[in-house]
Amino acid sequence: MKKILYVASECTPFFKSGGLADVIGSLPQYLNKTKKCDVRVILPLYKQLKEEYRAQLKEVMIYDTQVGWREQYTGIYEMEYNGVHYYFVDNEYYFNRESLYGYIDDGERFIYFSSAVIEFIYRGDFKPDVLHGHDWQAATAVALCNIKKPVEGIRTIFTIHNILYQGWLMHSAFEELLNIDRIHFAGFEWEGMLNLMKAGIFHADKITTVSPTYAEEIKSDYYGEGLQWMLQLRSPDLIGIVNGIDVDDYNPMKDSNLQVNYKTSIPKKRENKKSLQQELGLSVDSNVPMFSIITRMVEQKGLHLVMAVLEEFIQQNVQIVVLGNGLYEFESYFNYLANKYPDKVHVTIGFNEGFSRKIYAASDFFIMPSLFEPCGLSQLIALQYKAIPIVRETGGLKDTVVPFDIYNGVGTGFTFVNYNAHELLDKLNEALRVYHNTESYKVLIKNISKANNSWAKSANQYLEIY
Ligand code: ADP
Repeated sequence: MKKILYVASECTPFFKSGGLADVIGSLPQYLNKTKKCDVRVILPLYKQLKEEYRAQLKEVMIYDTQVGWREQYTGIYEMEYNGVHYYFVDNEYYFNRESLYGYIDDGERFIYFSSAVIEFIYRGDFKPDVLHGHDWQAATAVALCNIKKPVEGIRTIFTIHNILYQGWLMHSAFEELLNIDRIHFAGFEWEGMLNLMKAGIFHADKITTVSPTYAEEIKSDYYGEGLQWMLQLRSPDLIGIVNGIDVDDYNPMKDSNLQVNYKTSIPKKRENKKSLQQELGLSVDSNVPMFSIITRMVEQKGLHLVMAVLEEFIQQNVQIVVLGNGLYEFESYFNYLANKYPDKVHVTIGFNEGFSRKIYAASDFFIMPSLFEPCGLSQLIALQYKAIPIVRETGGLKDTVVPFDIYNGVGTGFTFVNYNAHELLDKLNEALRVYHNTESYKVLIKNISKANNSWAKSANQYLEIY
């Protein structure tokens, strides 16, 4: 049985800031159930670990990790959860902070984390055949693993979940933070600085990203965020595998956050809408179509398009529910809209997992017009809860939402091609027309019910690579 070590910076149910956590929290569980591999996960031990999990941790070992000339304490803790071994790297200086990311020394924090992981492989009993690193925070682990080979014959995979975030540092950080020969500088260097994601791409035996369309897109100037050339070079080893979700967890039949559980019954789904309308102080009417947005409020998510046309759209009989946080520009726009249209628009600034599920269940449509989208899990969750996605055809959105064709009855959502607000408005209006056309609406919901958003297919592709 192949032994795989996932190196990542977040993982449900322990720590989550976005889709990466969902993937790391569900793919290993799914893979282990196939009994074809033993996937284990190593994560930083952030302050945010809830007491119920903290109480289950067992100390495995303590050692020092070299960060440049300094020796930094490392504690390794372990727990088993849903058939997966999780290891946590403890260092309070680096990880006992208010947020997961967003610190001036993030580069150093994750170089430390990666170095501690390699040391863990040297010292520990778990000797992986494959080290599988995820995003820039784990890229140094991929590079160091390839350079140092902590286990004979170990191979590496690097997965790009979002090429925008790369881990840039001053080039002097190479000497200050890494303990490797100067000959390896070229693997880390990019445009006169250190770029950790580039090092991951440079060193990995195989590179994957989270949808086939994104795998193509990131080789282009428009989407490559400056690394397109590296990706073109590594193109023969670059594979796009679309993400799945844990359909057992994101399951409207079982989800305890919902007012009424349902499978495909629209009347039952609408009970959830009524209950949310009451809770949020919106006009209570289960027939009013509800559109939702649940997102990190950043440019990537296409919110400039939303800002351009949403106010025009809501002059019709519709409701909008928004949950998210991020840039002030977007937060203040949504607050403005909610203040101006209190019985139609409700906005919650914040991050709340349970509340997000209530919204998925209550809403008829889910708006996600991303500028770029490596895979996107929100639209998959929306599909699970029968909230019809309205998306731009980019990255994983293109690979997971099939445009609805009212004439021959195929498709699972509404899609548009160009990054253009009028195309979005057009699709919002089309969605509204279909909502009021009972026959077409039923066909669309039926198609969505048949869509398979689980890991089944993609897990096999990962197994093949391992
Ligand atoms: P990204 O990883 O770029 O943020 P994804 O669509 O891949 O986007 O994943 C986002 C995940 O985070 C989904 O599970 C979504 O439901 C969740 N999410 C996003 N914003 C919030 C929020 N404000 N509160 C709760 N969950 C959120």
